[in-house]
Amino acid sequence: MSFLQELHKRRTFAIIAHPDAGKTTLTEKLLLFGGAIQTAGAVKSNKIKKSTTSDFMEIEKQRGISVATSVMTFEYRNLKINILDTPGHKDFAEDTYRTLTAVDSVILVIDCVKGVEEQTERLMEVCRMRNTPVIIFVNKLDREGQNPFDLLDELEQKLNIKVRPITWPVNGGSNFKGVYHLLEKKMNHFAVNKTRLEDDIEVIALDSAVLDKKVGEKDANQLREDVELIEGVYTDFNQADYLAGNLAPVFFGSAVSNFGVMELLNTFCDVSPIPVHRMTDKRMVEPEEKKFSGFVFKIHANIDPRHRDRIAFLRICSGQFERGKFYKHVRLSKEMRFSSPFAFLADRKDVVEDAYPGDVIGLYDTGTFKIGDTLTEGEELQFTGIPSFSPEIFKEVINNDPMKSKQLEKGVQQLTDEGVAQLFTIQPGNRKIIGTVGELQFEVIQYRLLNEYGASCRFDARPYSKACWITAEDKIKLAEFIRLKSNFIAYDKDQNPVFLAETDWILRMNIQNNPDIQFHTTSEFK
Ligand code: GDP
Repeated sequence: MSFLQELHKRRTFAIIAHPDAGKTTLTEKLLLFGGAIQTAGAVKSNKIKKSTTSDFMEIEKQRGISVATSVMTFEYRNLKINILDTPGHKDFAEDTYRTLTAVDSVILVIDCVKGVEEQTERLMEVCRMRNTPVIIFVNKLDREGQNPFDLLDELEQKLNIKVRPITWPVNGGSNFKGVYHLLEKKMNHFAVNKTRLEDDIEVIALDSAVLDKKVGEKDANQLREDVELIEGVYTDFNQADYLAGNLAPVFFGSAVSNFGVMELLNTFCDVSPIPVHRMTDKRMVEPEEKKFSGFVFKIHANIDPRHRDRIAFLRICSGQFERGKFYKHVRLSKEMRFSSPFAFLADRKDVVEDAYPGDVIGLYDTGTFKIGDTLTEGEELQFTGIPSFSPEIFKEVINNDPMKSKQLEKGVQQLTDEGVAQLFTIQPGNRKIIGTVGELQFEVIQYRLLNEYGASCRFDARPYSKACWITAEDKIKLAEFIRLKSNFIAYDKDQNPVFLAETDWILRMNIQNNPDIQFHTTSEFK
């Protein structure tokens, strides 16, 4: 198969959802339909159920699951589909944001009873920032949910995107009868036994008398009315608008009982984007380019503490990646080759000889990678769009055991390279402040420092609520600001100065009073 054929075969996407909306269930059904797994229950939810504050085993279990389900690949209709998993827990939102930099589109799952939830909105904001194409799956139609027209309105308003239904539910709750395909103009009626796959579906035309017989006259007429209304209100589905991130096609269904999943998968295969271009600090990189390039968007430590190696997840952006070939690690300006890069399959890891744009491969790493690192065939470029966001919770690391300060230092360094949290240093005294978006990360860090590095620490809360990277055209003015505010200045891992603000009000005042200084809420501001 030629390089271009390989490229055109790939579809790389993430399923995102507020916890409990049905992401895991839908993922599993897609894998089941795609033939990648044989039985339901094979995909484990990588959900952190936080029962007690020190439920470390749960965190460890979660980490084990999350590496196993980080990337799931299956072939369907001659396409190679890569699903990238995202943690739903809001304390791990940064992980999800980074994963979204590595996909070309997303499927957003909404619970029809709850509608748009807090995490849904946040995740969607990130997609909108990058114009990532989004398909929406409204799930749990077997429950009494909101009226589908109201849901569509809510989606448009809260998610700030135009929507276009592709399938439409016939009744709902315990009377849910299936979905009507608005483009194919036929009803997919599901048999009473809702647990099997395709063979239970009977296809019926809208004007057929069979429809009345199957779903009842009332539901049939309601459907005809709804369809007329939809066609009057919504313009035809336009793929270009979807690919530009301006229009989200909407599907209704019930992942747990397979309703509407096949329709979703087929349309996904028809319309979703092939691997798209990606921006670097120098130029746009097109996937068709012959020379290989890619970036690391996730680093996962080995859960076995006896093996200190880590797995770096590399998204291939252009060209063909080949096992054993030398590539340039741009940040370190170092040639590297990988003798056993691997692909993630539903239940195992396989060494790969080559990989193509859209693919995600795992590279064994002994500490050379940081999130955002770029590999090329020699060109000096760095992929952008993988920023650190301003954390919200800040705590100082206090060493409990002075004999182990080296271990602590190394552990903190490596865990923050992995992107578990952000590290800031305050002078004088080289004090280390960890910044996160959630409390849970502190538990993870404390636990892992002890378990993997033998270093015991505690945290002292710091009163900051925002960290802003600061720059200025006039270097003297910047130095002056840093001197004046020295109590509130820290340095990030790359030695960039950061202003720590205790409240939004203080931050606003400082922005107002220092017009020569630029304040940035993400680390990417060039
Ligand atoms: P996630 O947190 O988004 O991964 O959600 P899960 O897939 O783990 O689902 C959360 C809960 O909702 C589980 O108990 C599922 O069995 C249930 N669930 C998922 N899909 C459906 C559905 O279509 N209908 C109903 N009634 N429950 C569902």
